[in-house]
Parts: sequence; C-alpha cells; structure tokens
Amino acid sequence: MDQPCLPIEPAFPKPRRSRQAQTVWGSRIVTVGGDAPVRVQSMTNTDTVDAIGTAIQVKELAIAGSEMVRITVNTPEAAAQVPYIREQLDRMGIDVPLIGDFHYNGHRLLTDYPACAEALSKYRINPGNVGKGDKHDRQFGQMIEAAMRWNKPVRIGVNWGSLDQELLAGLMDTNSLRPEPWDARLVMYEALITSAIGSAQLAERMGMDGNQIILSCKVSGVQDLIAVYRELARRCDYALHLGLTEAGMGTKGTVASAVALGILLQEGIGDTIRVSLTPQPGEARTQEVVIASEILQSLGLRSFVPSVTACPGCGRTTSQTFQVLAKEIDDYLRAQMPVWRKKYPGVEKMKVAVMGCIVNGPGESKHADIGISLPGTGEAPAAPVFIDGQKALTLRGDNIAAEFHQIVENYIEKRFGQLAETA
Ligand code: SF4
Repeated sequence: MDQPCLPIEPAFPKPRRSRQAQTVWGSRIVTVGGDAPVRVQSMTNTDTVDAIGTAIQVKELAIAGSEMVRITVNTPEAAAQVPYIREQLDRMGIDVPLIGDFHYNGHRLLTDYPACAEALSKYRINPGNVGKGDKHDRQFGQMIEAAMRWNKPVRIGVNWGSLDQELLAGLMDTNSLRPEPWDARLVMYEALITSAIGSAQLAERMGMDGNQIILSCKVSGVQDLIAVYRELARRCDYALHLGLTEAGMGTKGTVASAVALGILLQEGIGDTIRVSLTPQPGEARTQEVVIASEILQSLGLRSFVPSVTACPGCGRTTSQTFQVLAKEIDDYLRAQMPVWRKKYPGVEKMKVAVMGCIVNGPGESKHADIGISLPGTGEAPAAPVFIDGQKALTLRGDNIAAEFHQIVENYIEKRFGQLAETA
C-alpha cells in the first residue's frame, strides 16, 4: 500500500458568499447571510388573535434557541394583535425578532395596520399569493413599499404548493415548444427559481436594498430541495432561508429535514434554517427548534448545548443504567442552558460521554471533556471517570448516577464559572 504523502483534508462546509440582511428588534440584531452563523428560526401554530397564547409560544421557542420566530398574520384581527404580542414579549424580556407571514392580503394588512408593520422585524412574502394579473406587481409592490418605509428585511418565500400559476403556465408553454421538452419536474424547478429571483429583482427595481432580501424555494421532497437550492445558490447571492416544507411528523420529518438540510449546509448553502415538523399529539412545538439546532451542531456549524456521546449498547451490556444516565445527563444539560448561556460562557461546546462497557468506553470518554465508562455484563462493578482526557477517579456502588451528575456540575462550575468571572 502506498504511504500517504499529504494529510487527509478535513470535511467542513465551505460557506457560500452571500449578502447579509439584518433582522432587528430594539438592540437585538440578528444578521442573516454574509459572515453570520447559520440562524435557527421557527414558527408558531397558535391563533395570532390569541395574543397571550402566541406570546407564550414565541417565548418558549425563543428560550429553546429560536433566533427569529414567525407568526401568521392572516386577518385584520390578527394584524391588530401583533403590537400586543410584541408588547407582551418585551415585558417578559424576550427580544426575539418577530416575522410576519403574509398571504393574499399582506399588502392591505401592512398598509391598514401600521403598528403591526412596525412591530414585526421581517415580512415573509409569497409571490405566488400576492394576487393575479395586473394586481400581482401592484400588491407585491405595496408590501415592498411597507418594508422600505419601516426599514424591514423581507423573505421572498416561494413554495411549490402555491407557485405562481401564471409563471408556471408560461414556462410550460415555452417548454412545449422545445425540440425536446424538459420533464415537467424540471420546469417546476425552473419556475420556483424564476419566481424567487425575479421577485427579488423586481423588489430591487422598486428601490429595496438587495441586502435586505432573503430568498427561499421550499419543496417537500429531499432530492427536489437539493436540486433547487444548488441552482438557486449558483444563480444569486441573496441570503437563503433553507427548509423542507411539510416535512411531516416524527422520525420521517426529522430524518428528511436532517438529510436535506445537512447535505445543502455541508455544501455551504443556507443562511437560516427552519425544520417544518408536524408536531405529534402532545409534542412540544419547540421540538422543531431542537432538531434545527442539532442539525447545525452535528455539522460543527454552531454549538448550542453540551453534547452527550452515548454508545448504542449491545450484548455486552444488559442493564439500562447507561441509557438512563445518558438521558438524564442530556435532559439536565438542556434544561440548564437558558441560564448557563450567560452564567457559563463556552459550556455549549462541552462534550460528555456516557458509555456502556470497557470496549469503547475509556477511549470515547478520553475524547470527551468528561466521560464515564459504565461496567458491562460480567465486568467488575466499577465505572472509571475521565476528566480532560485523564482518568480522574472510579465510581463504585449503587450511587454511580448521582455521583457522576455531581461531578459534571462541579466540572462546569470550575471550568466555565471562572470564565464568566473573568469575562
Ligand atoms: S461501548 Fe460496549 S456496550 Fe457500548 S456498544 Fe460498544 S461494546 Fe457495546
């Protein structure tokens, strides 16, 4: 076998160069695109007319890590409540920027409810739902004018479920004249991209700053999304909002989103992401934020919570001790993060390992900041604990879980508490 002469190149996303938008509320500025980190955003599923219920859900999403939260603004009653939602959030000390999601009547709502237009930090405009015929450009223009008047960025968000039908019909006609017509799916890709970029260029001709335009072209198929965004990224330098629309529920929605977004993010495509998960009955809306954050953290693009490495378990360990301990530690670390973000700067990069037996336990634990290797079946009832790569002590007896918990807490206080004091 040939000896290697060059080191293996690490795999890491090479970011696409894009313009940068600023989504602002008060002193909070969330930059999107350019050299900004990839942002996490989410959307409420409350009735916006219920200002208190919506404000509470926005707060939950923000605490879970959503850096912008979108709310539906679909009726005059909803538009009238937006300033009160903002007020409630400000009172609770939640400065997350709010994004208004408009369809069909956004031009009227943004004109008739100036307090709504002012309280929102960004407007989502769907060019497929702003009116037909000669109304299209006029109503789209009214929304762009509102964005310029209030100095807000816009997301021009095309969705294949609500694609501009006149544009699609025109492209279909052109396609039918080709000597070898394209597959209808490829025409649909072209329509999505043409609608998004064409609308952005129209907005710029109307006077909108191109930096304040973010684009999205959402579809529900993984391969479709990858194809469309690769081409969208190639054809423009607007910041891109990335997400699989109608991703679905549970495992299917999670996996589809992770695969689609992961592939594109690895190629440097995507400046802000949303995981459009259908919550399972009883599941918290915040789950979509958890998954979006995990996607970015798994790729090494962001750090949000300390990561817990746990082995899957196998025939070498028949007890559930390590599964229970891994879950307990993971839940505990996540629950503490809203407070720890300020109290222990850097703690989100910490790695904890909880392993099931001696085969990979000590090795994996040494790679973590703090790790424990629990005894497998037939092994001596001892659990070595590794701190900063060195074996620090061995736990024995029935109280291993509680003792390890305490060791983790002490480690965090000692290592990251000092950083807070010196910051
Ligand atoms: S560390 Fe041990 S228990 Fe865990 S998967 Fe590997 S061999 Fe199995």
